[in-house]
Amino acid sequence: MNKPAEAPEQFDAVVVGAGFSGLYMLYRLRQLGLTVKAFDSAGDVGGTWYWNRYPGARCDIPTTDYTYSFDPELEKEWTWSEKYATQPEILDYLRFVADRYGLRADIEFSTSVTSAHWDEQGKRWSIATDRGAQLRCRYYIMASGCLSMPKSLDIKGTDRFAGKVYFTSQWPHEGVDFTGQRVAVIGTGSSGIQSIPLIARQATQLTVFQRTPNFSVPAHNGPAPADRLARLAQDREEYRDAARWSPGGVPVEPTDILGVTASETVARERFEEAWKQGQLFSILGIFADQGVNPASNKIVADMIRERIRSVVHDPETADMLCPKDHYFGTKRPCLDTGYFETYNLPHVRLVDLRRQPITSITEDGIDTADEFFGLDAIVYATGFDAMTGALAAVNATGRDGLSLTEKWAAGPSTYLGLMTAGFPNFFMITGPGSPSVLSNMAVSIEQHVDWVADCLKDMGAEGFETIEPTPLAEAGWDQHVRDCGAITLHPTANSWYMGANVPGKPRVFLPYIGGVSVYRQACDDVVAQDYLGFRRTGPGGERCRDGVIRRMQPDVSLVLQLMAGLGMPPMETLSPDEARAMMAAAAETLPPSPEVGEVTDGMMPGPGGELPYRLYRPASAGPHPVVVYFHGGGWVLGNLDSDDPLCRDLCVQSDAVIVSVNYRHAPEARFPAAAEDAFAALQWTAAHAGELGGIPGQIAVAGWSAGGNIAAVACQLARDAGGPHVSGQLLITPVTDSDMTRPSYTENGDGYVLTTPLMHWFWDYYADPADRSDRRAAPLRGNLDGLPPACVVTADFDPLRDDGLAYADALEAAGTQVRRVRARGHTHTSVTMVGVIISGAPVRAEIAAALRDFFPSRTSLGN
Ligand SMILES: Cc1cc2nc3c(=O)[nH]c(=O)nc-3n(C[C@H](O)[C@H](O)[C@H](O)COP(=O)(O)OP(=O)(O)OC[C@H]3O[C@@H](n4cnc5c(N)ncnc54)[C@H](O)[C@@H]3O)c2cc1C
Repeated sequence: MNKPAEAPEQFDAVVVGAGFSGLYMLYRLRQLGLTVKAFDSAGDVGGTWYWNRYPGARCDIPTTDYTYSFDPELEKEWTWSEKYATQPEILDYLRFVADRYGLRADIEFSTSVTSAHWDEQGKRWSIATDRGAQLRCRYYIMASGCLSMPKSLDIKGTDRFAGKVYFTSQWPHEGVDFTGQRVAVIGTGSSGIQSIPLIARQATQLTVFQRTPNFSVPAHNGPAPADRLARLAQDREEYRDAARWSPGGVPVEPTDILGVTASETVARERFEEAWKQGQLFSILGIFADQGVNPASNKIVADMIRERIRSVVHDPETADMLCPKDHYFGTKRPCLDTGYFETYNLPHVRLVDLRRQPITSITEDGIDTADEFFGLDAIVYATGFDAMTGALAAVNATGRDGLSLTEKWAAGPSTYLGLMTAGFPNFFMITGPGSPSVLSNMAVSIEQHVDWVADCLKDMGAEGFETIEPTPLAEAGWDQHVRDCGAITLHPTANSWYMGANVPGKPRVFLPYIGGVSVYRQACDDVVAQDYLGFRRTGPGGERCRDGVIRRMQPDVSLVLQLMAGLGMPPMETLSPDEARAMMAAAAETLPPSPEVGEVTDGMMPGPGGELPYRLYRPASAGPHPVVVYFHGGGWVLGNLDSDDPLCRDLCVQSDAVIVSVNYRHAPEARFPAAAEDAFAALQWTAAHAGELGGIPGQIAVAGWSAGGNIAAVACQLARDAGGPHVSGQLLITPVTDSDMTRPSYTENGDGYVLTTPLMHWFWDYYADPADRSDRRAAPLRGNLDGLPPACVVTADFDPLRDDGLAYADALEAAGTQVRRVRARGHTHTSVTMVGVIISGAPVRAEIAAALRDFFPSRTSLGN
């Protein structure tokens, strides 16, 4: 007779993993009075520090920081022996934590969770293990690690080798003695770089097979840094709080020095200081722009390469060890102890797999195209299927049978890296889309665990049983994660951050690079807004406040914060002269503008006297189409210098001559002076196009803000006057009407540089109320028939957004071809901040493409 199947054990929560994450999660869930079962395929607690026992394994975040902070008593009871503790010491620490809080009682070791299915009816997860256990739980929490799934080997013949084989990620507990052996290490990531110097001490012959050289800096290990210890001793909680609200989870003072503007002496001094400190966040933070600006990054990378060359005696080996195919920091940099020096030892050799690929591993060694290496042992330091590997291995099935791998086929999609839509009550600790591997993970883990525990507590208090993100909130977060990555150099690298080390893995930037503090704030804001973007259900019904937590481009919000910190007075409280002086002072701090072929200043006649203009000619052979450009500044502010970076950018990207015109300003010359000057400038430029290096008949107008206003007006006047012919009008966040009751004036009226009160201030200086409905002030009110094709740019966080949209709608209704460019996540001013706001670059590229499209193909003209 068949034994009746045992009813599955019931728990409130199942936790997968007993490393840093799982242990703390278990602790917090127990505090809430929940019944919990944890599993780990390892034989004991420790996670990363249980498995990675290779020689030289250490943390690369100072141990004073890479530690739990949730219990001050725990901190008093444990003292780290070194700046960077070794694996055995970190494992001892985690064992100590497990014992101190009696956590082992709820953990089943040497047991893997193999499947997890959501039962929608019962509102429970069904969990199965490789030991045949079946469980039911309400909350399923993967604390399964970002770097816990070793990457599978993709080298031919690996199973043929008759010698000893070791994986750094699954190192034998009894250790390995390589004395007298010929050893190969394959891989020069962090594990390879840490283990190679120690393996070299024992082996008679060591061959290192390197696919990609990595940047590594000396750890200068020793006692824990005295300044850190002193700070901790003085005020532990202040120190821990500073870490929680820091960019990387370690309290370091971020710099505002830019590599592109720093003198050579300053650059060298900052590098030497960071080098001396031997800390990742120091060397990654030499310049504020080294993660986003190739030129700045190169300064740091060159100095590291210089160090490698100064250490390694053989120039050819040194060259092979110098990373050249990625920007510094876009792959995880390493901290080492004597790594590069190891290559000076006579029995150590480096093989570049790009020049000399492995053809096969054989019974007794490694074969390459032109050489055979006889071996006694091979060490694979080949890395991990990072961030998603362990999650995909269980491949949970959510609502309607949707599997996680199916959902994530094109890359992971999460809300805050904590949850994913379609998988109720399924939480990830340091999941993709959270700071995780880019941060001090001890800090990030505590934050995630605390968030989850607090969320479950809130749910209990409010009578909810399930929680799940909405598709809208998740898509918004995914977009934000991508936006943050896109402004950095990271997506250019073939790194494990990008999934590039695992064949077939989608190429997506996996972690959140906005920073630990910014991320923490987003998580807190979600809770403060009644769990924005989460749907919670319970016997009493459902609650969901749907929405997107971060819509602004990350660099735009950073600049807004910086500006807010300067405490500048609102512009509308100043006189025009004071406002002009403030703008001029701000312009002085801008980075260098793009190079163009030629820049010349000149004067052109205008209705009220001569008008200064600046002409930008592309470097390519002319003649070129011509764009007459009008700067922004509410008809009161701005000049040729204020919009110089934008004009250069437009010139380079659209390959057109730009003629930037300094029209008359209010209050000295009120309405309709600016509009009249704009039309006159268009007429003069059209008449002199050939002399200016332009193609006669190929003239467009462009303008930003108030400049967009007079550009639109100039088009209407040209149509009415029967010429000149205008090929197109580019209106960047233009003023098109004097009616300030449209919703964007309320939604975006304050906090985004251009405010609604400031718009009133501009109008008051520019035009009498009676004139404001004149079509030369409010082109939206004019006749829009027969106007040239338009490109209208609108920004999400702009009081003028609806002005632009209304004009685009009206032009289209009148039969004009309109290209709409939405500057997603931008303000009125951010799109034009060339060299400052990186996320504006794709928008400006689209604008330039629109400009080019105004003109017939230059190739068809025989250029
Ligand atoms: C060599 C190395 C050095 C590192 N150094 C640092 C450092 O200096 N600073 C830093 O911030 N981070 C470092 N990290 C990252 C490190 O992984 C984290 O700091 C941290 O240890 C992660 O803890 P965790 O509990 O989230 O995951 P892990 O420690 O990876 O633990 C996850 C556990 O889940 C178990 N598991 C996974 N799937 C299943 C399953 N299906 N069933 C059962 N069990 C499962 C695994 O066996 C593992 O034990 C390092 C990583 C490595 C590999």
